[in-house]
Amino acid sequence: MSVLPIVLWPDARLSQICAPVGDADIRTLTDEMFETMYAAPGRGLAGPQIGDMRRVFVMDVTWKEGARTPMVFADPAITARSVETVVMEEGCLSIPDLMVPVTRPREVSVTWRDEAGASHSADFDGFAARCIQHEMDHLDGVVTLDHLDTATRTALIEGYDPK
Ligand code: ZN
Repeated sequence: MSVLPIVLWPDARLSQICAPVGDADIRTLTDEMFETMYAAPGRGLAGPQIGDMRRVFVMDVTWKEGARTPMVFADPAITARSVETVVMEEGCLSIPDLMVPVTRPREVSVTWRDEAGASHSADFDGFAARCIQHEMDHLDGVVTLDHLDTATRTALIEGYDPK
């Protein structure tokens, strides 16, 4: 296993729609994605962020509080969204040191497959709902900045130097 280099915005790969995982064995890939995510350190990491253009992301929303709960989401789909929305400042490992306010539904219902191919469905709220929506955006070529109106986006980007 190895820590993979993280693709940084505005790399064109972060603007592309990813392809289905299907029946492919992704366990080596997701092991390396977890290692990369924990090293970054982050709580979610999507395929295009390490240059794999498939619909997969890894998430662990509790490890920074001391208990690891790693989850793999392959070919995820949001099947329901709450009407109620909430604004939160979001960071992104591909846009280091830039916090972006993003409005999203407070709760989502999600279906996905894990790294062993087993199907799951569950409802999420709080930070997990936020993280899942953020990572699923990456699978559709969308980053936090794409949620902003032009004036807000321009003001945030102005002077931003990811180095
Ligand atoms: Zn991100």
